[in-house]
Amino acid sequence: MEIQYVIINFLILVAILVIAGRKTVKRIFGTRRERIIKELEEADEINNSPLPVFSEEEIPLDDELPSEIELERRAADKKLAALKAFQDRELREIHSRMTVKVKDELMEHLSGKVKELFLTEPYHSKIREKEERTVDEILSLIKLTPGDMAYLKHHEVLYVTLMSAFPLDKKLVDKVDKATTELLDTVGGKTSLWVKEDPDFIGGLRLRIGDTVYDGTVSEELYHFKRRLNREPLTSDDAVTEITEDFLKTAANYAPAINIYQLGRVLTVSDGICWMDGLADIMYGEVIEFECGDRGMVLDIQPDRIGCVIFGEYEHIESGSKVRRVGRIASVPVGDTLLGRVIDPRGNPIDGEGHLHFTEKRPIEVSAPAILDRAPVDTPLLTGIKAIDALVPIGKGQRELIIGDRQTGKTAIAIDTIINQKGKNTICVYVAIGQKESLISEIKENLEKHDAMEYTVIVSASASESAALQYIAPFAGTAVAEHFMYEGRDVLIIYDDLSKHAVAYRELSLLLHRPSGREAYPGDIFYLHSRLLERSAHLSEKLGGGSITALPVIETLAGDISAYIPTNVISITDGQIFLDSELFNEGQRPAVNVGLSVSRVGGSAQYKLMKQISGTLRTKLAQYRELQDFTQFGTDIDDVTKKTLDSGARLTATLRQGRYQPLDSWKQSLILFAVSENLTGSLSLDDGIYEKGLFTFFENEQKELTDILKTGNKMSAETAEKVKAAITEYTERCCDGNFTGA
Ligand code: ATP
Ligand code: MG
Repeated sequence: MEIQYVIINFLILVAILVIAGRKTVKRIFGTRRERIIKELEEADEINNSPLPVFSEEEIPLDDELPSEIELERRAADKKLAALKAFQDRELREIHSRMTVKVKDELMEHLSGKVKELFLTEPYHSKIREKEERTVDEILSLIKLTPGDMAYLKHHEVLYVTLMSAFPLDKKLVDKVDKATTELLDTVGGKTSLWVKEDPDFIGGLRLRIGDTVYDGTVSEELYHFKRRLNREPLTSDDAVTEITEDFLKTAANYAPAINIYQLGRVLTVSDGICWMDGLADIMYGEVIEFECGDRGMVLDIQPDRIGCVIFGEYEHIESGSKVRRVGRIASVPVGDTLLGRVIDPRGNPIDGEGHLHFTEKRPIEVSAPAILDRAPVDTPLLTGIKAIDALVPIGKGQRELIIGDRQTGKTAIAIDTIINQKGKNTICVYVAIGQKESLISEIKENLEKHDAMEYTVIVSASASESAALQYIAPFAGTAVAEHFMYEGRDVLIIYDDLSKHAVAYRELSLLLHRPSGREAYPGDIFYLHSRLLERSAHLSEKLGGGSITALPVIETLAGDISAYIPTNVISITDGQIFLDSELFNEGQRPAVNVGLSVSRVGGSAQYKLMKQISGTLRTKLAQYRELQDFTQFGTDIDDVTKKTLDSGARLTATLRQGRYQPLDSWKQSLILFAVSENLTGSLSLDDGIYEKGLFTFFENEQKELTDILKTGNKMSAETAEKVKAAITEYTERCCDGNFTGA
């Protein structure tokens, strides 16, 4: 029974709970549903309402923006500008690639047209009529070259080939046979004549005696036309039509001209080196052209074969294909159009800034000016770097080596020197050999930032280029510089660096199977660098008085200046700026080691004022270095030593100078005078605030003295006293806290 009651009670309880709970649940869910419906309606309303529109005036102005946003916006603008510049460059590059393609297509089209033309009458008969004249002209030109004579000595017979586009008249063949036999009879040789046809000639004929070719064919004319076309920019479609019409008109009235050149044959190609035979009279350093259009330079002549380096790619060169002499040694475009540009050693622009419009070329190897053509070094070339202008002064026409371990600021000195030439009427050529491409673009950017690119040319054979191009780079750069020098202008050339150049030449020499000498460098490496650096000179007035000042750079290993290449270049140059990695790491930058650096001729070119002031600096610094070594372990130092140490430390601090901060000569003289005369009191010189303030003080308040200093002439005792007094006045003001500097 009890169980029945419990069950009934339980059921009643459940019923009550269900009834009461349903209400509560309904209430809870009811309100939620209502809320959701309400929110949905609100959302609908928002969706349907129009978006708020700001009129232009309502957009907050720049200066009202929080500075962070403004900064971000500026950064974005900058990125956009850089992107645009990049796009422009890309476009220009695409344009120049397209131009090459258009030219190729144009040539193909023209060859087809000319072929058609000479197969139709009356042009076909006209060109055939001219064959006899061509033969006569060729026969009036033929002669035996020294190469042929050498060949005849060993082989008795000289091969003669007569080739033509159409079958030749027997009368003409006999005429050629008779003339060549007679020619060879004069030297007791025999000849063997081959007659061939080649429709690729389009028209005309060609006689080859030994390696010499007398070419009167239409295809040869087309070849020369293509070379001319490649040199000229194609500006518009009209230009293409004009060229086509002109060419066809000339072709219709075709009169053969005889071109004489020599041919050879490719034997083997490997590692950028090509061995050939033929080319009987070729000379060292001459340019040769392969059938595919690639070029190379002869670097080795042996009795039975000729070795050359290939510029650029060599995949298309086949064994057995023909090579022809171009008839000149390697040359580069020169002139004012190069200013502001980056070119490779062949003279092709590589900065993506379009075609180079040049009118003049200059061979990369010429002999150096003779002794009588030179004048002594007498004008300073200011680097704007205190440590150099004061202690190792450079004169125009001098060759001063920058030598040091890697990452010791060698390039930095060279670039600062270029920047300091602004407004000084000096043209700069920076030759980068085996440098990273990123570094070259960084250098270009920095030079542009300091407005120095306007008077600078960069010749670059980066690390990714072939050893052949790296080898000719400094010669090409010198040719560019020489052009300006012979115009009577002053040029500064930097070879960065000649160690990499030596390595490139070693690679070439080893590939050419030349015996290697010390450190595996070829025996003529010394001659290579001396004939390069000898071309820097100060020309005499008679020749215009121009100059080339060379700053070759050499990288040493662990400061070893007695290695082969450093000793070689040290002995060729007129002094060296030695950069010490220890000093560099101590924070002494530029890290010029005064003890090991020397300038053998620059002293005579130094401004008299600087000479007067810097006369004792070298000894003072040497004394300081020595005392420093002595006293670094001792604590007992007498007053005199302490004073010397103190003034040495001040002098060393003054010689510190940041990058891209070249100083005018009078400013350098002033601060060095102040420090060497101990007029700076106990003020710190490390941060450069004192010197900046001193310059401002002189410019604003000591105009008369400043003008005297700017002349660069020696100071009289009276002026020196006045300058001393002015410096003391400034120092006192600084000590009193009245003048804090710049
Ligand atoms: P490498 O052997 O790689 O060619 P390098 O000797 O040419 O090196 P730089 O590239 O000129 O040396 O300089 C090395 C580093 O030292 C750079 O980061 C450069 O910014 C810094 N540096 C050079 N000169 C100074 C200077 N006067 N003040 C401050 N930093 C400098
Ligand atoms: Mg460098």
